[in-house]
Amino acid sequence: MLHNIVEDLVEDWLERILAEYTCCKCAKCRMDMMAMSLNKLKPHYVVARDAYSRVRYLDTSTQNDIMMAVVTSVEFIKDHPRHEG
Ligand SMILES: [Zn+2]
Repeated sequence: MLHNIVEDLVEDWLERILAEYTCCKCAKCRMDMMAMSLNKLKPHYVVARDAYSRVRYLDTSTQNDIMMAVVTSVEFIKDHPRHEG
C-alpha cells in the first residue's frame, strides 16, 4: 500500500489554519480546500507502514510550500464557497 504523506500534512495544516479563520468549515468546503491544496503540490509517496515517520521525509522548504498551499486554498474557498450561504 502506498500512501501520499503530503495528504496527511495538508490535513494537519488545514486543521491548524481553519482554527484561525471564521469561514465556513463544512465537509464540502474542507474537501474543496484539501483538493485545491493537493493539486498545487507534488505528491510524496511512502510505503504505508513508514507513514509514521512522514515528517522526516520532507525538508523545511517542502513543508513550507505545503503550509502556503493550504493558506492560499483556505483564502480562496472562504471567498468562493461552492454552495449557497
Ligand atoms: Zn461550506
